[in-house]
Amino acid sequence: MSILVVGSVALDTVETPNGKVVDSLGGSATYFSVAASFFPSTIRFVGAVGDDFPKEHIDFLKSRGVDLDGLDQIRGGKTFRWGGSYIDDLNSAQTHFTELNVFGHFTPKLPDSYRDTPYVFLANINPELQLEVLKQVRRSKLVVCDTMNLWIDISKPALMETLRQVDILIINDGEAKQLTQESNLIKAGRQILTYGPSRVVIKKGEHGALSLTESDFFALPAYPLASVFDPTGAGDSFAGGFMGHLASTDQPESEEAIRQAIGYGTVVASFNVEDFSLNRQRNLTTFEIEERYEQLRKMVDF
Ligand code: AMP
Repeated sequence: MSILVVGSVALDTVETPNGKVVDSLGGSATYFSVAASFFPSTIRFVGAVGDDFPKEHIDFLKSRGVDLDGLDQIRGGKTFRWGGSYIDDLNSAQTHFTELNVFGHFTPKLPDSYRDTPYVFLANINPELQLEVLKQVRRSKLVVCDTMNLWIDISKPALMETLRQVDILIINDGEAKQLTQESNLIKAGRQILTYGPSRVVIKKGEHGALSLTESDFFALPAYPLASVFDPTGAGDSFAGGFMGHLASTDQPESEEAIRQAIGYGTVVASFNVEDFSLNRQRNLTTFEIEERYEQLRKMVDF
């Protein structure tokens, strides 16, 4: 089954206690696609870059089998840039700058071949752009979205409209509280279910993830890692593993498939944080993913 993703493609400047990288490959759609590419689905990518975007990054995405027909390379444009650090707390990024650049004026236009994609992921980007993509999607089986504090702050009406149209929201704990003005995570999750999604998956960084519907509750710890190198992209990698598995089972209504998908999301995210940017994914294998998935499954079996 194929997966459509719209989101950011970025050149990130990131500082962690382990060092710093400047203008390294990042972006919500990038992390998502590479994570999902470890599962047997076609990833259809919608986004924009400037002509300063290195060709080696395009080649890398292509080497992962990502379909880039929907990636606009805008002449004279500058690629989106994000700068952040995790000096005091590895669970939450401090944003230093967000330069929208090409995303300031971008209107996504889906190639016709993308419009019937069954699985849709609206990665973290301006909710106005997420809505623009939803308008062009014809028949989808499952729409999942992500967001972040910036959009809750400056684009809440559009975000609420997006939420009315999605099946699942994947969001981190701080953002769930910010979105709902609730300090208790369970109350925040229940509140989000009244906004439109029938399921909310709340990521809690090193403390794992939980999933809530009207009738089901599921929680999974993170894969235990003694050293986290760079958490950037963990959330998007989680979403990529989650959607990658769900699309391959093609049973988005099954609670069992959802729980397994949360397991795969957790595992793929755990590899992502072992190195800066997408460096760990460059030599990651599906064998390693399956091996760690089995370890995680055994850890929570009681
Ligand atoms: P994550 O750590 O999974 O939340 O995602 C980190 C990625 O999100 C980085 O590679 C950034 O380039 C990207 N990002 C940061 N801020 C924004 C934003 N306002 N809109 C879209 N993408 C962003």
